[in-house]
Order: sequence, then structure tokens, then C-alpha cells
Amino acid sequence: MPKKTVKDIDVAGKRVLVRVDFNVPLDREGKVADDTRIVAALPTIKYLVDEKARVILMSHLGRPKGKVDERYRMAPVAERLKQLLDAPVRYVDDCTGEKAQRAVEALAGGEVLLLENVRFYPEEEKNEEKFARRLAELGDIYVNDAFGAAHRAHASTEGVAEFLPAVAGFLMEKEISMLSRVLTAPAKPFVAIIGGAKVSDKIAVIDNLLQKVDALLIGGGMANTFLKAEGIEVGKSLLEADKVDMAGGLVQKARARGVELLLPVDVVVAPAASPDAQSKVVPVGEIPEEFMALDIGPQTVQNFAARIKDAATVVWNGPMGVFEMEPFAGGTVAVARALAESNAVTVIGGGDSAAAVKKAGVADKITHISTGGGASLEFLEGKELPGVAALQDK
Ligand code: ADP
Ligand code: MG
Repeated sequence: MPKKTVKDIDVAGKRVLVRVDFNVPLDREGKVADDTRIVAALPTIKYLVDEKARVILMSHLGRPKGKVDERYRMAPVAERLKQLLDAPVRYVDDCTGEKAQRAVEALAGGEVLLLENVRFYPEEEKNEEKFARRLAELGDIYVNDAFGAAHRAHASTEGVAEFLPAVAGFLMEKEISMLSRVLTAPAKPFVAIIGGAKVSDKIAVIDNLLQKVDALLIGGGMANTFLKAEGIEVGKSLLEADKVDMAGGLVQKARARGVELLLPVDVVVAPAASPDAQSKVVPVGEIPEEFMALDIGPQTVQNFAARIKDAATVVWNGPMGVFEMEPFAGGTVAVARALAESNAVTVIGGGDSAAAVKKAGVADKITHISTGGGASLEFLEGKELPGVAALQDK
């Protein structure tokens, strides 16, 4: 069900309380090291400014565990936002109470205020009603643009929506529409590529996607557990021995549904996951006992690329290997390039996968790279996210 957005309500002169995801990495000097998430929220902020709303932004930053922690103040974020907006941004070092109230009262239409880190209060993550109500007192309207936090039922992402008219921002709208599009009406053939470290993290995603896709391509560390289920020895590779039966069950399920399942046929192995390890390519049947599979091999890349080439929709979650280390980045980079070259609608979910696509230098050739790691994963599992559910339907 589509959600109402900032365009569906009158915001002029109103106090608009916007939950953004400004949980950005900071460098050693405490400055913003990567402003991707701030940039992603700009369309909503700019729209509200242009409409002369009184814009009140709130976010979490890091894990301050419910108390004031100088390392996680929002001040450096306010500084960067000011540069990006090329306009003044006010900042107040609290997110509720008298100080915050006064800062809001001083705000004129078209001005922007950034509140302090909501996670300085333990009530935030506990989603305490009293705290949510206090946040709500600061606004007339609530906007959620923090897709990356939408899988959490916290006071600023869910609780507050009970006390104010609640709508989506543009980033939230885009995330929901792109991710639902692939789940509900994917152009066929629909191919899913799943990788990453552990099967246990991705069982629910695979289970949900198996009901929708034409082909499922499995790589990364989790492929080892599938190979083992197929009777293939994987040496010292990352293996979840207690998930082998489950992986075998998923293979059965794929076959029963007529889903083409592609596992690696060759892998890059090394004695250890180290950037200067001696690596070599072997067929999956010949992984030496003392070696670990750390990337998919060239033949596997070719097999995967051929499926991607023919696809009309591709969803990708989880790198194909230990892409953080040069010797094991080849498979992931090649798959990223195959996505970039295809004409399919391409959607990337997962924090590490998004980083891998950026590393491969093809981010601008992907239809949609989700800004939410955990949130995109839960969305692809078919779950309703609490931060989305709390918003008004169109
Ligand atoms: P995402 O964040 O995109 O959902 P994950 O967090 O599930 O992805 O997985 C990413 C991690 O998986 C990376 O740190 C990567 O090094 C690791 N990984 C991928 N392939 C392997 C492998 N063969 N062995 C060990 N770890 C792997
Ligand atoms: Mg990850």
C-alpha cells in the first residue's frame, strides 16, 4: 500500500518533525567522513524549506547507549548539512525538553533546525510512549525519511507517529517503491544474487525470493554451506555446519518450484583470509583440505554474468567473496560490472553490497542502491517494517 508523502499534506508554516538517517561515519577529528546519508535526505529537506515549513530534523548517530556521549553529538552533522544546503542550519544539544522547545519556537518558515542525537535517551530504543509524546510536542506533522532505521520500532521511527499526522519523505518513498516493485511486480526473468558471510543471515530472504524468482545465484561465504549440502567438501572455508540441512532444504525447494539454482563451480582459495595470501583457482570438487574458498572463480563469474545478461530484474544482496581484500574482490567486482552493463532493473540491498558496488565504480549504473542495510534485508524478507507501517496510507 503506497504511503502518503510530504506532497500530500500542507506543510507551509507548520512545524515539521523529520526523522532522518544521519547515522554517518565520523573521522578521527570527529568530522563527517562520508555524507552519503545526508545527501540522500536533501530532496525532502529542500522541498520542506521551499514550502516554507519550519523544518526540525532528528536522527540517531552511533551507539551512545542511552546517555550523552560527546563522541556522538550531532554538531558535525549540522556543519556538513549547512555546507550541503548552502543555508544556515541551527543545532540544539537536546532533542526534547525546554531547550529544544525554545529552539523550535525561534524557527521561522523555511528554516532548519537539527536536534541532538535521539539515542542519548534510553527511552528512544525502548520506544517509550511518554518520550515519543515529548518528541511529538515539537511538531505539527511527522515525516519519516529514515529508511535505514525503519526496521526498528523506536520512539523517533515509530512511537511518535501515533501522535502526529505521519507521512513519508522522498527517500523513504523511493526506497519503498523500488523495493516493492521488485517484490510485487518484477519484470521477468527475475534473477536474485545472494552472497555474504553467513546463510543464517539470509535464510528468510532466500525463502521469500524463492517464491518469486526465475533464477537464484548463490556466492560468498554462504555458498560453502550449500556446496556441503550437495556433498562437496569445502576444506577450511567458512561453513555453518548446523545449517547444512537447511541449505539442502532450500535447494530442494528451489528445484520443486522450478527455480534455476546456480552455485559456484569454481572458487578462489587461499590458506587464510589475508591480503597477501597465495591464492589460486580450483573447481569446487577440489578445494584442498587446508584452504578456504574466499571468492567465486572465473567460470562461476561467467555463469552468473550470463544469467544477469538475460534478466529483466536483478536483486543483489551480499558480496561474492571477501571483497575487502584485493585477491578476493574479483568475483564481486565482476558481478557488479555485469549488473551495470545489463538493461535490467537492478536493485542492491545490504550495506556491504552497496559498498562493493561503489568500490567497483559502477554505482551510477545501478537502478537503485538501497540506503538501508538491515532495513532493505528485512524488506526483501517480505516483512512489514514498523517505521513504514506507522505512516498514513495514501
Ligand atoms: P551485506 O552487508 O551486503 O548484507 P553481508 O554482511 O551478509 O553483506 O556479508 C558481507 C561479508 O561477507 C563481507 O565482510 C565479506 O568479507 C564476507 N564474505 C563474503 N564471502 C566470503 C567468504 N567466502 N568467506 C568469508 N567471508 C566472506
Ligand atoms: Mg553486512
